[in-house]
Amino acid sequence: MIPPNFDYHAPGSLDEALALLGSLDDAKIMSGGQSLLPMLKLRLASPANIVDIGRIPGLDRIEERDGFLHIGALVTETALEESATVAAGYPILRDASRVIADPLVRNRATVCGNIAHGDPANDQPATMLALGAEVVARGPEGERVIPIDDFFHGLFMTALADGEIVTGLRIPTPPERSGGAYLKLERKVGDYAVAGVAAQIALDENGRVARAGIGLTNLGFAPIRASAAEAALTGESPTEEAIAAAAQAAADATDPVADRRGSVEYKRNMARVLTGRATARALERAAAPSGG
Ligand SMILES: Cc1cc2nc3c(=O)[nH]c(=O)nc-3n(C[C@H](O)[C@H](O)[C@H](O)COP(=O)(O)OP(=O)(O)OC[C@H]3O[C@@H](n4cnc5c(N)ncnc54)[C@H](O)[C@@H]3O)c2cc1C
Repeated sequence: MIPPNFDYHAPGSLDEALALLGSLDDAKIMSGGQSLLPMLKLRLASPANIVDIGRIPGLDRIEERDGFLHIGALVTETALEESATVAAGYPILRDASRVIADPLVRNRATVCGNIAHGDPANDQPATMLALGAEVVARGPEGERVIPIDDFFHGLFMTALADGEIVTGLRIPTPPERSGGAYLKLERKVGDYAVAGVAAQIALDENGRVARAGIGLTNLGFAPIRASAAEAALTGESPTEEAIAAAAQAAADATDPVADRRGSVEYKRNMARVLTGRATARALERAAAPSGG
């Protein structure tokens, strides 16, 4: 299908983009276009103006500094997947980018667009919840930092105000003895998740769980933080019983709908199974000499 008509704008700087967004009626931001363009083609959106921020220089960096991993607005899933910094310290992100769509989509789709879209079926919201990320946004009033727990408001609804641009994500650098993993069940390669689970664990020097972050994909009307599952692990030795209790608590936190990907019961059970497996893999990585 062909998208409806719109006026196309390609600003060369963030200031120019913000000025355009402030002056145009009915404008939509585009980064990689991998969710926006399908929505236009399906007539789920028909903005009069598109402000393509994809040519703004300086927004495509992945760098560790000041205790954070900074992911610029134009970092693609492919760049994330190929980053040595990500591979070394944030394998949960590489796990996720590898199972998003297909290489053609991943070459264009941005990580920030994945978050800004507010789709609970997208994979990166769960990893950002598990990692305790923050969203950095710029609007007419200047810059603000939004904790990821305050960002998702519902189906395709986020904390972003009209005309506000996500300029990046920042993720606290995990402490020593940390590990994370993302697991996704999909009907076929490239599909959205039947269910997905992100787990990020930090161990203390005695091998107990110092911090647990668990995020769930496509198991409710918004990305879900499985707080009770995190609490079931925190302060505990990571025994099979503790992991099983956390997995059940994660399943109990879900609110899936029955569709062609499965029944409510099936999706809940998959949330339980995947939470157990993702937590076990995160623990293995946390205990490995190089961490990750
Ligand atoms: C065939 C196909 C399969 C897919 N499979 C998956 C999958 O398995 N898992 C998955 O997670 N996703 C999947 N997607 C969706 C897509 O990959 C993600 O949503 C993508 O990361 C969106 O990023 P983008 O840069 O393309 O955003 P765009 O499409 O440009 O924008 C998406 C939305 O976010 C807003 N937006 C984008 N960037 C910003 C910004 N910097 N600031 C403010 N608002 C912004 C736009 O206004 C728009 O509303 C798939 C897409 C396709 C086409």
